[in-house]
Amino acid sequence: MSKEKQTIHDFDINIIYEYFSNTERQGPGNTEETLKALSFITGLTEKSKIADIGCGTGGQTMTLGKNTPCEIIGIDVWEDFVHKFNLNSASHNLQDRVKGIVGNMEKLPFHEEELDLIWSEGSIYNIGFERGLNEWRKFLKIGGYIVITENTWFSEERPTEIQEFWQKAYSEIDTIPNKVAQMAKAGFLPIATYILPEAIWTDYYSNQALNIDTFLKKHKGNKTAEDFASSQRYEAELYTKYKEYYGYMFYIGKRIK
Ligand code: SAH
Repeated sequence: MSKEKQTIHDFDINIIYEYFSNTERQGPGNTEETLKALSFITGLTEKSKIADIGCGTGGQTMTLGKNTPCEIIGIDVWEDFVHKFNLNSASHNLQDRVKGIVGNMEKLPFHEEELDLIWSEGSIYNIGFERGLNEWRKFLKIGGYIVITENTWFSEERPTEIQEFWQKAYSEIDTIPNKVAQMAKAGFLPIATYILPEAIWTDYYSNQALNIDTFLKKHKGNKTAEDFASSQRYEAELYTKYKEYYGYMFYIGKRIK
Protein backbone atom coordinates (compact mmCIF):
# COMPACT_ATOMS: atom_id res chain seq x y z
CA MET A 1 0.00 0.00 0.00
CA SER A 2 1.41 3.42 -0.92
CA LYS A 3 2.02 5.95 1.79
CA GLU A 4 -0.60 8.26 0.33
CA LYS A 5 -3.21 5.53 0.32
CA GLN A 6 -2.30 4.57 3.84
CA THR A 7 -2.84 8.15 4.99
CA ILE A 8 -6.27 8.29 3.35
CA HIS A 9 -7.10 4.93 4.87
CA ASP A 10 -6.07 6.08 8.34
CA PHE A 11 -8.15 9.21 7.93
CA ASP A 12 -11.18 7.14 6.89
CA ILE A 13 -10.88 4.90 9.90
CA ASN A 14 -10.48 7.93 12.13
CA ILE A 15 -13.73 9.56 11.11
CA ILE A 16 -15.61 6.27 11.40
CA TYR A 17 -14.32 5.76 14.92
CA GLU A 18 -15.11 9.36 15.76
CA TYR A 19 -18.68 8.70 14.67
CA PHE A 20 -19.01 5.78 17.07
CA SER A 21 -17.33 7.48 19.99
CA ASN A 22 -20.23 9.93 20.29
CA THR A 23 -22.63 7.26 21.52
CA GLU A 24 -22.65 5.67 24.97
CA ARG A 25 -22.51 2.21 23.43
CA GLN A 26 -20.83 1.31 20.17
CA GLY A 27 -22.91 -1.80 19.63
CA PRO A 28 -26.46 -2.96 20.35
CA GLY A 29 -27.06 -3.40 24.09
CA ASN A 30 -28.19 -1.60 27.24
CA THR A 31 -27.79 -1.63 31.01
CA GLU A 32 -30.85 -3.76 31.65
CA GLU A 33 -29.67 -6.50 29.28
CA THR A 34 -26.12 -6.43 30.66
CA LEU A 35 -27.56 -6.89 34.16
CA LYS A 36 -29.78 -9.74 33.00
CA ALA A 37 -26.76 -11.56 31.55
CA LEU A 38 -24.77 -10.87 34.72
CA SER A 39 -27.52 -12.51 36.80
CA PHE A 40 -26.47 -15.91 35.33
CA ILE A 41 -22.94 -15.59 36.70
CA THR A 42 -22.24 -16.92 40.18
CA GLY A 43 -19.26 -16.89 42.52
CA LEU A 44 -17.69 -13.52 41.69
CA THR A 45 -15.71 -11.99 44.59
CA GLU A 46 -13.27 -9.08 45.01
CA LYS A 47 -10.53 -11.55 44.02
CA SER A 48 -12.16 -12.33 40.66
CA LYS A 49 -10.88 -10.91 37.42
CA ILE A 50 -13.03 -9.98 34.42
CA ALA A 51 -11.91 -9.06 30.91
CA ASP A 52 -14.26 -7.05 28.68
CA ILE A 53 -13.02 -7.68 25.15
CA GLY A 54 -13.74 -5.06 22.50
CA CYS A 55 -14.99 -2.82 25.32
CA GLY A 56 -15.32 0.39 23.29
CA THR A 57 -15.85 3.40 25.55
CA GLY A 58 -17.06 1.04 28.31
CA GLY A 59 -20.85 1.58 28.62
CA GLN A 60 -21.40 -2.09 29.59
CA THR A 61 -18.11 -2.30 31.55
CA MET A 62 -19.21 0.42 33.97
CA THR A 63 -22.38 -1.60 34.61
CA LEU A 64 -20.20 -4.61 35.43
CA GLY A 65 -18.00 -2.42 37.62
CA LYS A 66 -20.92 -1.05 39.61
CA ASN A 67 -22.56 -4.45 40.06
CA THR A 68 -19.59 -6.71 40.89
CA PRO A 69 -16.69 -6.29 43.33
CA CYS A 70 -14.15 -7.56 40.74
CA GLU A 71 -11.07 -6.22 39.04
CA ILE A 72 -12.04 -5.51 35.41
CA ILE A 73 -9.79 -4.97 32.42
CA GLY A 74 -11.38 -3.48 29.30
CA ILE A 75 -9.48 -4.14 26.09
CA ASP A 76 -9.95 -2.37 22.81
CA VAL A 77 -7.81 -1.87 19.76
CA TRP A 78 -8.84 1.75 19.37
CA GLU A 79 -6.85 4.10 21.59
CA ASP A 80 -9.40 6.93 21.65
CA PHE A 81 -12.08 4.55 22.92
CA VAL A 82 -9.75 3.33 25.68
CA HIS A 83 -9.01 6.93 26.63
CA LYS A 84 -12.75 7.63 26.93
CA PHE A 85 -13.17 4.36 28.81
CA ASN A 86 -10.71 5.48 31.47
CA LEU A 87 -12.37 8.91 31.81
CA ASN A 88 -15.67 7.08 32.11
CA SER A 89 -14.28 4.82 34.82
CA ALA A 90 -12.93 7.79 36.77
CA SER A 91 -16.25 9.63 36.51
CA HIS A 92 -17.93 6.60 38.16
CA ASN A 93 -15.14 6.46 40.74
CA LEU A 94 -14.20 2.96 39.54
CA GLN A 95 -10.68 3.79 38.36
CA ASP A 96 -8.97 1.62 41.00
CA ARG A 97 -10.43 -1.61 39.69
CA VAL A 98 -11.90 -0.90 36.22
CA LYS A 99 -9.13 -0.11 33.76
CA GLY A 100 -9.00 0.18 29.99
CA ILE A 101 -5.97 -0.95 28.01
CA VAL A 102 -5.18 -0.88 24.31
CA GLY A 103 -4.87 -4.42 22.99
CA ASN A 104 -5.90 -6.83 20.29
CA MET A 105 -8.42 -9.63 20.80
CA GLU A 106 -6.26 -11.78 18.54
CA LYS A 107 -3.40 -11.56 21.01
CA LEU A 108 -4.80 -11.11 24.48
CA PRO A 109 -2.29 -10.19 27.20
CA PHE A 110 -3.48 -12.74 29.80
CA HIS A 111 -2.03 -15.91 31.33
CA GLU A 112 -3.76 -19.22 31.00
CA GLU A 113 -6.56 -19.60 33.54
CA GLU A 114 -6.18 -16.03 34.78
CA LEU A 115 -9.77 -14.91 34.30
CA ASP A 116 -13.04 -15.73 36.05
CA LEU A 117 -15.22 -14.11 33.41
CA ILE A 118 -14.84 -13.01 29.80
CA TRP A 119 -17.39 -10.46 28.63
CA SER A 120 -17.73 -9.36 25.02
CA GLU A 121 -20.79 -7.52 23.71
CA GLY A 122 -21.00 -6.78 20.00
CA SER A 123 -17.32 -7.47 19.39
CA ILE A 124 -16.47 -11.13 18.85
CA TYR A 125 -17.44 -10.89 15.17
CA ASN A 126 -14.14 -9.04 14.67
CA ILE A 127 -12.25 -12.30 15.21
CA GLY A 128 -15.19 -14.62 14.42
CA PHE A 129 -17.40 -16.45 16.92
CA GLU A 130 -15.74 -19.87 16.73
CA ARG A 131 -12.19 -18.59 16.63
CA GLY A 132 -12.86 -16.26 19.56
CA LEU A 133 -14.39 -19.02 21.68
CA ASN A 134 -11.56 -21.42 20.89
CA GLU A 135 -8.72 -18.95 21.43
CA TRP A 136 -10.09 -17.17 24.50
CA ARG A 137 -11.11 -20.29 26.44
CA LYS A 138 -7.59 -20.94 27.77
CA PHE A 139 -7.54 -17.59 29.59
CA LEU A 140 -10.53 -18.65 31.70
CA LYS A 141 -10.29 -20.75 34.84
CA ILE A 142 -12.08 -24.07 34.63
CA GLY A 143 -15.57 -23.19 35.83
CA GLY A 144 -15.18 -19.60 34.59
CA TYR A 145 -17.81 -17.99 32.38
CA ILE A 146 -17.98 -16.39 28.97
CA VAL A 147 -20.70 -13.92 27.98
CA ILE A 148 -20.99 -12.90 24.37
CA THR A 149 -23.46 -11.20 22.07
CA GLU A 150 -23.60 -12.22 18.45
CA ASN A 151 -25.74 -11.57 15.39
CA THR A 152 -27.83 -14.69 14.70
CA TRP A 153 -30.43 -16.06 12.27
CA PHE A 154 -33.76 -16.80 13.93
CA SER A 155 -34.93 -19.20 11.23
CA GLU A 156 -33.51 -21.81 8.87
CA GLU A 157 -34.62 -19.88 5.79
CA ARG A 158 -34.69 -16.19 4.99
CA PRO A 159 -35.26 -13.88 2.02
CA THR A 160 -32.36 -13.60 -0.42
CA GLU A 161 -31.79 -9.87 0.11
CA ILE A 162 -31.06 -10.23 3.81
CA GLN A 163 -29.25 -13.54 3.40
CA GLU A 164 -26.86 -11.97 0.90
CA PHE A 165 -26.35 -8.80 2.90
CA TRP A 166 -25.25 -10.62 6.07
CA GLN A 167 -23.38 -13.33 4.23
CA LYS A 168 -21.20 -10.57 2.84
CA ALA A 169 -21.02 -8.45 5.99
CA TYR A 170 -20.45 -11.35 8.42
CA SER A 171 -20.28 -14.80 6.90
CA GLU A 172 -20.26 -16.52 10.32
CA ILE A 173 -23.83 -15.44 11.02
CA ASP A 174 -25.65 -18.70 11.79
CA THR A 175 -28.71 -20.16 13.48
CA ILE A 176 -29.19 -20.47 17.25
CA PRO A 177 -28.72 -24.30 17.38
CA ASN A 178 -25.55 -24.05 15.29
CA LYS A 179 -24.07 -21.33 17.50
CA VAL A 180 -24.88 -23.30 20.66
CA ALA A 181 -23.25 -26.39 19.13
CA GLN A 182 -20.13 -24.36 18.30
CA MET A 183 -20.00 -23.20 21.87
CA ALA A 184 -20.24 -26.75 23.21
CA LYS A 185 -17.60 -27.94 20.73
CA ALA A 186 -15.24 -25.21 21.93
CA GLY A 187 -15.44 -26.62 25.48
CA PHE A 188 -18.21 -24.58 27.06
CA LEU A 189 -21.34 -25.76 28.79
CA PRO A 190 -24.11 -23.62 27.30
CA ILE A 191 -25.76 -21.91 30.28
CA ALA A 192 -28.19 -19.51 28.63
CA THR A 193 -29.07 -18.22 25.21
CA TYR A 194 -31.62 -15.50 24.64
CA ILE A 195 -32.60 -12.83 22.20
CA LEU A 196 -32.00 -9.15 22.85
CA PRO A 197 -35.28 -7.23 22.62
CA GLU A 198 -36.08 -5.60 19.32
CA ALA A 199 -35.99 -2.17 20.99
CA ILE A 200 -32.23 -2.59 21.46
CA TRP A 201 -31.77 -2.37 17.72
CA THR A 202 -34.38 0.27 17.12
CA ASP A 203 -32.85 2.44 19.91
CA TYR A 204 -29.40 1.77 18.52
CA TYR A 205 -30.39 2.82 15.03
CA SER A 206 -32.36 5.85 16.16
CA ASN A 207 -29.41 7.09 18.24
CA GLN A 208 -27.30 6.52 15.15
CA ALA A 209 -29.74 8.49 13.02
CA LEU A 210 -29.36 11.55 15.28
CA ASN A 211 -25.64 11.04 15.13
CA ILE A 212 -25.62 10.72 11.33
CA ASP A 213 -27.01 14.23 10.80
CA THR A 214 -24.40 15.90 13.01
CA PHE A 215 -21.69 13.71 11.50
CA LEU A 216 -22.66 14.61 7.92
CA LYS A 217 -22.79 18.31 8.73
CA LYS A 218 -19.32 18.16 10.19
CA HIS A 219 -17.85 16.20 7.26
CA LYS A 220 -19.84 17.91 4.51
CA GLY A 221 -18.60 16.88 1.06
CA ASN A 222 -16.43 14.04 2.39
CA LYS A 223 -17.15 10.94 0.35
CA THR A 224 -16.07 8.42 2.98
CA ALA A 225 -18.35 10.06 5.53
CA GLU A 226 -21.27 10.11 3.08
CA ASP A 227 -20.76 6.49 2.00
CA PHE A 228 -20.44 5.39 5.58
CA ALA A 229 -23.59 7.25 6.63
CA SER A 230 -25.59 5.71 3.79
CA SER A 231 -24.33 2.21 4.63
CA GLN A 232 -25.50 2.74 8.23
CA ARG A 233 -28.89 3.92 7.00
CA TYR A 234 -29.20 0.93 4.69
CA GLU A 235 -28.42 -1.48 7.52
CA ALA A 236 -31.11 0.19 9.65
CA GLU A 237 -33.67 -0.06 6.82
CA LEU A 238 -32.88 -3.72 6.33
CA TYR A 239 -33.40 -4.36 10.01
CA THR A 240 -36.86 -2.77 9.93
CA LYS A 241 -37.77 -4.86 6.92
CA TYR A 242 -36.36 -8.22 8.06
CA LYS A 243 -36.21 -8.11 11.86
CA GLU A 244 -38.16 -11.34 12.24
CA TYR A 245 -35.27 -13.22 10.62
CA TYR A 246 -32.25 -12.13 12.66
CA GLY A 247 -31.00 -10.22 15.65
CA TYR A 248 -28.48 -10.09 18.44
CA MET A 249 -28.39 -12.90 20.99
CA PHE A 250 -26.65 -13.37 24.30
CA TYR A 251 -24.66 -16.60 24.60
CA ILE A 252 -23.51 -17.54 28.08
CA GLY A 253 -21.22 -20.50 28.64
CA LYS A 254 -19.14 -22.09 31.38
CA ARG A 255 -15.68 -23.49 30.77
CA ILE A 256 -15.85 -27.21 31.54
CA LYS A 257 -12.60 -28.50 30.05
N1 SAH B 1 -18.58 -3.66 23.62
C1 SAH B 1 -18.89 -2.30 23.20
C2 SAH B 1 -18.32 -1.96 21.82
C3 SAH B 1 -18.80 -2.82 20.67
S1 SAH B 1 -18.25 -2.21 19.08
C4 SAH B 1 -20.40 -2.11 23.22
O1 SAH B 1 -21.14 -3.12 23.25
O2 SAH B 1 -20.85 -0.98 23.20
C5 SAH B 1 -16.89 -3.29 18.72
C6 SAH B 1 -15.57 -2.87 19.39
O3 SAH B 1 -14.55 -3.82 19.05
C7 SAH B 1 -15.04 -1.51 18.94
O4 SAH B 1 -14.80 -0.73 20.08
C8 SAH B 1 -13.73 -1.83 18.21
O5 SAH B 1 -12.74 -0.84 18.36
C9 SAH B 1 -13.32 -3.13 18.89
N2 SAH B 1 -12.41 -3.98 18.12
C10 SAH B 1 -12.43 -4.24 16.79
N3 SAH B 1 -11.44 -5.09 16.45
C11 SAH B 1 -10.76 -5.36 17.60
C12 SAH B 1 -9.62 -6.17 17.90
N4 SAH B 1 -9.00 -6.87 16.96
N5 SAH B 1 -9.20 -6.23 19.19
C13 SAH B 1 -9.83 -5.51 20.17
N6 SAH B 1 -10.91 -4.72 19.93
C14 SAH B 1 -11.37 -4.64 18.67
